[in-house]
Amino acid sequence: MTASANSATTRHDDPAPQSRQLFERAQEVTPGGVNSPVRAFQSVGGTPRFMVRGEGAYLWDADDNCYVDLVSSWGPMINGHAHPDVVSAVRDTAVHGTSFGTPSVGEIDLAQEIINRVEPVEQVRLVNSGTEATMSAVRLARAFTGKQKIVKFAGCYHGHVDALLASAGSGVATLGLPASPGVTGAQASDTLVLPYNDLEAVRQVFAEQGDEIACVITEAAAGNMGTVAPVPGFNAGLEELTSAHGALLIMDEVMTGFRVSSAGWFGIDGVAGDLYTFGKVMSGGLPAAAFGGRADVMERLAPTGPVYQAGTLAGNPIAVASGLANLRAADASVYAALDRNADRLRGLIGDALNAEGVAHQIASAGNMLSVFFSETPVHTFEQAQGQQTWRFPPFFHELLARGVYPPPSAFETWFVNAAMDDAAFEQIAEALPHAARAAAAATAPEASK
Ligand SMILES: *Cc1c(COP(=O)(O)O)cnc(C)c1O
Repeated sequence: MTASANSATTRHDDPAPQSRQLFERAQEVTPGGVNSPVRAFQSVGGTPRFMVRGEGAYLWDADDNCYVDLVSSWGPMINGHAHPDVVSAVRDTAVHGTSFGTPSVGEIDLAQEIINRVEPVEQVRLVNSGTEATMSAVRLARAFTGKQKIVKFAGCYHGHVDALLASAGSGVATLGLPASPGVTGAQASDTLVLPYNDLEAVRQVFAEQGDEIACVITEAAAGNMGTVAPVPGFNAGLEELTSAHGALLIMDEVMTGFRVSSAGWFGIDGVAGDLYTFGKVMSGGLPAAAFGGRADVMERLAPTGPVYQAGTLAGNPIAVASGLANLRAADASVYAALDRNADRLRGLIGDALNAEGVAHQIASAGNMLSVFFSETPVHTFEQAQGQQTWRFPPFFHELLARGVYPPPSAFETWFVNAAMDDAAFEQIAEALPHAARAAAAATAPEASK
């Protein structure tokens, strides 16, 4: 037994005793008991649920509690869990061997599928994670332009690449500070961090240091500070400024790619990047990601060019088969269902919070959404941080207790999937009024009053 908030609950009332035991075991062998920090429920408290099974719109935990899943593995499961096409692609591929360390046919097919969907992408290199994709894209941009500095935006997450963990802190607008111990000043010093959605700041930094900037990297639509769409003209302005100054624009579509439309965010705003990064949906839930873009840039990569980049398991046959099956299953009707389901969810959340008079914003970028407990719209990280975050944990836990699994953080995107049916929405509709009441009843900690 841990002496934590849980100790107030008797074992009899504990809805997740198995998860609790597993979490205790996990904490002994893994820092914080998890392999990716937000899974630990730190900002909402309580016991992270150990999931054992997923099907369609639902997940089941180790105690056999069933949840409507509004995380969808942080995006990949657009077709729902255990989609038959994805499962059989994985099974059929695995029986013929799990990795060859040679080229294989599926890699061509997956690259072709990506190229067919996203017009500015002419060539693709497959990697194992979104982090690798952005790290490699930045290296390539620096090599191609012969420049060192990179521009990123506060609140945009591009994986845990040293140079990309820098984010604006303590009023430092344009000088990158390492946001994590272990990242040296040297690794972060060439990273210029600007406020998201502030084109004037980008214009100014290009006016001052334009001949030193290799690239601008941006989430095509931000989803890692909660969902914060680019304001009209922002992405187009980035395209204009980068091309005017001989810098590359890296559109990070790891989250948006193949989720918000068949062509990702590019399919929504049509602004072309020079390089793209993809992950999440394109792997169907296995470890695979990609970067790609202009052929004249991509061919600087080894072995055709001097920029080194490699991966023992890159293009893994099972991961590639899973990704290809996930993408091929995602036809126009799936994208229509995702949009419809996001609308329906937004409607239910809005109704419940309005009924309790809770000030909130439901922010959207296509079918991605999040709930900010804020009276004013959120366009920047600073505004996202200004929300009444203390309303989120009770809101979250009322949903969880009633079989709805939203992201366990006020700064994450909610992800619908196409498998959500009327029964799933009924479960959500029944849970939301309780959650809204809990959010309304929450009180600010002294410090933030
Ligand atoms: C998830 C994500 C990444 C990192 O991908 P990993 O596979 O977790 O390394 C990078 N960029 C964006 C926009 C993401 O959402």
